[in-house]
Amino acid sequence: MPFASLGLSPALVHAAEKAGFVAPTPIQAGAIPAILQGADLLGAAQTGSGKTAAFALPLLQQLQLSATGGPRRVRALVLVPTRELAAQVGEVLRSLAQHLQQPLKVAIVFGGVSINPQMLGLRGGADIVVATPGRLLDLVDHKALRLSAVAHLVLDEADRLLDLGFAEELQRVLALLPAQRQNLFFSATFPAAVQALADGLLNNPLRVEV
Ligand code: AMP
Repeated sequence: MPFASLGLSPALVHAAEKAGFVAPTPIQAGAIPAILQGADLLGAAQTGSGKTAAFALPLLQQLQLSATGGPRRVRALVLVPTRELAAQVGEVLRSLAQHLQQPLKVAIVFGGVSINPQMLGLRGGADIVVATPGRLLDLVDHKALRLSAVAHLVLDEADRLLDLGFAEELQRVLALLPAQRQNLFFSATFPAAVQALADGLLNNPLRVEV
C-alpha cells in the first residue's frame, strides 16, 4: 500500500518520500486515515514501529487545513516523557513540515535546561508544541504560551510518562485544554494506570495494535 492511498496531501506524501519512507508501516497504515478523519486513537506501539510519523503526518495535514492566517496559536500539543524524545519527535515534525507550502512552527520544550531561550523561542507563537509536562506548565505559568486553542493532543509513550511520575502534571495540563479536541494516545504497555488514563481521555477511539 503506498502512502498516497492513505489520504495524505501530495506535499506530505512527498515529505514521507524525502524522509526515505517507501511504504507505510502497519501502524501508519492503520492510524493515518483515522487521524485524518478526526478520530481519537489508541495506539499500542513500540519505538521503532514508525509511530512518530503515524501521528506527525496527519497532524501536519490537519493543521495546514485549519490554518487561519491569523496569529499563530498552539493547535497541537505533543506530550512526551523525556527531553530526548521531545527533541526527536520535534525534529521529525520539523523536517516533515519543511515540505509544506505554508510552514508550520514547531516549538520543542523540556526541563533540565534554562527556561529563557525556550521563552524567547515561543515569541510569535507556535503551531505545534512538543513538550515534557513539567516545563510546559512552567511556560504556561510564565505566560509564555497558552493552550486554549489546542485541537489535537498526542500522548507519546504514555506508560513512561506515568512511570516517570508525571501523572499529576498531566492532569494539570489536561485541565488547561479545550474539551473539544482530538486525542491520540500511544503506549508500549497497558498496565491498569495507563489504561485508566486512556479511558479518561479517549472518546470512542480506534485501536491500532502493532
Ligand atoms: P519511531 O517508531 O517513530 O521511533 O520510528 C522508528 C524509525 O523508523 C525512524 O528512524 C523512522 O525514520 C523510521 N520510519 C518510520 N516510518 C517509516 C516507513 N514508513 N518506512 C521506513 N522507515 C520508517
